[in-house]
Amino acid sequence: MSGVSYAVHCIDCGHTEPFRLVQTTCSQCGSNWREVHYDLEKVKPIFEHQLSERPFDLWRYRELLPIAEYIPYLSMGEGGTPLIHANNLGMMLGCPNLFIKDERQGPTNSFKDRQAAIAIAAMKEAEITEAVLASTGNVAIAYSAYAARAGIKLWAFLTSLVPLEKMREVAIYGTKVIKVTGTYDQAKRLAAEFARQRNLHLERGACSIPSVESMKTLAFEIAEQLTYYLRTNSDALANLPTKWKAPDWYVQSVSGGIGPLGVLKGFTELYQMGLIDRIPSIACIQAEGCAPMVHAWKANKAVADPVLNPKTHITTLSTGDPGRTYTLLRERMLRLGGGAFESVSDEETFRTIHILAKLEGLSTESAAAVAFAGTIKLLRQGIIKPNEIIVVNCTGHTMPVETLVLGDGWATDISISRLEMEAKPQEGLYGALSNLTPEKVRKIVIIDDIEDARRLLRRILQSQGDFLIREAASGMEGIQMIQEDPPDVIILDLMMPEMDGFAVLSHLQQFPDLASIPVIVVTAKELTKEEQALLRGKVKALMHKGKFMSDDLADEILEAIH
Ligand SMILES: *Cc1c(COP(=O)(O)O)cnc(C)c1O
Ligand SMILES: [Zn+2]
Repeated sequence: MSGVSYAVHCIDCGHTEPFRLVQTTCSQCGSNWREVHYDLEKVKPIFEHQLSERPFDLWRYRELLPIAEYIPYLSMGEGGTPLIHANNLGMMLGCPNLFIKDERQGPTNSFKDRQAAIAIAAMKEAEITEAVLASTGNVAIAYSAYAARAGIKLWAFLTSLVPLEKMREVAIYGTKVIKVTGTYDQAKRLAAEFARQRNLHLERGACSIPSVESMKTLAFEIAEQLTYYLRTNSDALANLPTKWKAPDWYVQSVSGGIGPLGVLKGFTELYQMGLIDRIPSIACIQAEGCAPMVHAWKANKAVADPVLNPKTHITTLSTGDPGRTYTLLRERMLRLGGGAFESVSDEETFRTIHILAKLEGLSTESAAAVAFAGTIKLLRQGIIKPNEIIVVNCTGHTMPVETLVLGDGWATDISISRLEMEAKPQEGLYGALSNLTPEKVRKIVIIDDIEDARRLLRRILQSQGDFLIREAASGMEGIQMIQEDPPDVIILDLMMPEMDGFAVLSHLQQFPDLASIPVIVVTAKELTKEEQALLRGKVKALMHKGKFMSDDLADEILEAIH
């Protein structure tokens, strides 16, 4: 489609031959492990000068995709998802450059849409009319949607742990759903055997060339979008020697590892063309109950021992045997001198779902939240530095399937009896609303000169309880608010122009009724011994900006008012 030549290169024997989807192994040595090499010299000027004329979807990178002919009727707007600056979460974590690649916004709401769009286009090109895959849910959903457009019949082998809502989504597209009572790895073996017996095309995951290649488009988009964002919001890129800026980190939740494998290849190709300034470090985050890659990485092993019995509620990430994908990833990450593999518990993940939803307005499936929980962990460990540019892939949105993350009492019931309604229709209806107002609403005053910080604090408080919140942008304004109507708790910043937090505190000390109001200091300042002494006995708690989580603050507040 592009006039740029490409060929398949065997990573075991080096043999190079033309790409044909139906030929799944190296014709020289029989290896399954091959990758596409492109004539990057030819691609470079196109990427440098022609992209801006193309629509913002993944086909704008067609010269680096192994598809001969773009087929318009298959397309549903795949790729081109937003890169969102995580203002609130970033502020809570002390990271000014935290970005979210929002893959929930793909046609079937996960980043598997990239894979499906390219893999199905390749199947169409190879005149395949029936195919088989195994999936933990999202691959089956995405492939089913694209297969429907392409007129390809699909067989999806799903482990019985996949939520029923997802299975029904697969079925509605017309795919044959085979529920396998067993692990994902077992479902994969069954699918492979079925495909062999029926002589049908099998989706081969990390050994499928179109699948790995599709994930590169994430890297290409991130480079373009990050550069655009930084250029328009700061002058940090004034002396950038390359066309685009790459982030310091790409973080993703990982199951089989196609995502990081493809993304790393994408960044590497951009780097080889001289279009980005460096190749980012990759962080692969797994669920603790199924973390074969993390175990192997930490034990410094090149081969991962399979986890035979995954123990996690996060079914999407239940690849127990990553096989050679891990070995390749590790090899490449070590060659680049870094990266990380880390795991997080289901509990940490569920907590992070709440943080993402309540602070950033992003409802995610648990598999996606794993990457964010991992980012927080790596920041805490000092592996990711707070001032680095971090892009986290928000891999999927499947709101209806998350049944475990909300406790009881997440909604307030109002029931209006028929009798009441007949007697006094208006009173019956509105009377019910009185249940919604708690007896005593606690009053909180936030004193902070930085608007973003006030918004974050307000948002944390709003999501944690019923509070009446007032904001003051200066010490003077805060004192005034407190004197007019004394609150139950004061949240105070220390560094403010004119009247700083210390001055506010000593002013309050002059009035016995105000001096007794609990004060929680939230500050970005490292305190000297003298300053700590100044605060002693006058504040209820001291919290450092960027070092506490939203529920830590809520805990302090609840303790202060009880
Ligand atoms: C598939 C998937 C992952 C894991 O991606 P891999 O790159 O295949 O390891 C993570 N999150 C979601 C939502 C997924 O669908
Ligand atoms: Zn070979």
